[in-house]
Amino acid sequence: MQRPRGTQDLMGHQILKFRLIESTAYRLAGTFGFQEISTPIFEHHEVFHRTLGEASDMVAKETYDFKDRGDDLLTLRPEGTAPIARAFLSEGLQQNLPLKFYYYGPMFRYERPQRGRFRQFHQIGIEHLGTPFAESDAEAIFLAWQFLTELGLTSKARIEINTLGDSDSRARYRTALVEYFQAHKSRLSADSLVRLEKNPLRILDSKDRGEQELISDAPKLAAYLNDESRKFFDRVCQQLTHLGLPFQITDRLVRGIDYYCHTVFEITTQELGAQGALLGGGRYDGLIETMGGPKTPSFGWAAGVERLAELLGESNEAANLPRIGILTADEAGEAEALKLRAELLNLPCEVHLLYGTTGVGKKFKKADKMGLKWVVVLGEKEVQSHNLTVKDLTTGQQSEVARNKIAATFKSWI
Ligand code: AMP
Repeated sequence: MQRPRGTQDLMGHQILKFRLIESTAYRLAGTFGFQEISTPIFEHHEVFHRTLGEASDMVAKETYDFKDRGDDLLTLRPEGTAPIARAFLSEGLQQNLPLKFYYYGPMFRYERPQRGRFRQFHQIGIEHLGTPFAESDAEAIFLAWQFLTELGLTSKARIEINTLGDSDSRARYRTALVEYFQAHKSRLSADSLVRLEKNPLRILDSKDRGEQELISDAPKLAAYLNDESRKFFDRVCQQLTHLGLPFQITDRLVRGIDYYCHTVFEITTQELGAQGALLGGGRYDGLIETMGGPKTPSFGWAAGVERLAELLGESNEAANLPRIGILTADEAGEAEALKLRAELLNLPCEVHLLYGTTGVGKKFKKADKMGLKWVVVLGEKEVQSHNLTVKDLTTGQQSEVARNKIAATFKSWI
């Protein structure tokens, strides 16, 4: 039996990196006042299909939709924002605004698997609901950058930002874009011809080489922004400058989902090949209204854990705790081993029990192979004398330690 395409069995160093990434984000988000939320992995079909836009790739091609045994049409979540907006409404949290949520968990998209692109992957995200302030956009981007700083990844990353303006600005821009691309229809790819009908802004996202020149000559959204939208974006950029964050304005950055307005941003890297987006998000003032709720201006982002883990490389930060082995030498040792292990509880270390009454020499070899730092041999002699010999496998040094001092001794060494 094989695992499904685009999925992974996470273990060893890889999963330690996931933990490191998640614990860094969790702690940092907490200091910015974000509280953890965990929503279901599947939602009713309309949570995504009504909100992300039927023309978005995510909804048009990538969702895992299925009917359960009760004939309910459900969707595995492809992203975290729409479920949180749904939870906000179904839990009746309108009176509690503003709200700040942090989440971590698997997402599912039926995409073509390749380096950095999976069908089940993990996202860490934040959502700040009920905030109309441009300063909140900057605060959330600052948090994202700080997150990557703490992981030591900022030298390999950059912030790209753009504004989609309000709906009025976007509508005027849309008309201009349609006019422009209509006039050059013959130079558009099949995918972009579909986008021209459904969501022309998404043509700007196209990776198709044949239409890059046409796209770079297309009208720019900046020219269609009304005053209010321009001021809003200026305030976001001023804050980022004030914080000393290195960002660049990328006028082609539109992101693929319908619910965004005003600020959109991505943190990208050149080091992961084609899938260089590490983290992305933006403002979604209209989303909750689309779901039948009140107008709730909001901002959020999500980071891809697999890509961050790949960028972390073999960094030792995710290394194991120090490892201690208890090697039993005979039956008396076997009978006592768990008791000794219990005495080492609450130490920041891993304790491995190497059972069996034959071949202590062999067990030392095994301990070495397992990367154990210290080993304690436990047999009749040690049980009787209440004295233990601890060998440091990295230096070869041996120390005699009284049984009742063993935990305190390890504590002082770790
Ligand atoms: P998005 O929700 O598409 O903006 O994605 C946010 C982040 O999730 C991206 O910047 C990626 O790091 C990550 N991501 C999105 N799709 C995938 C995927 N199929 N496999 C792995 N990571 C992904």
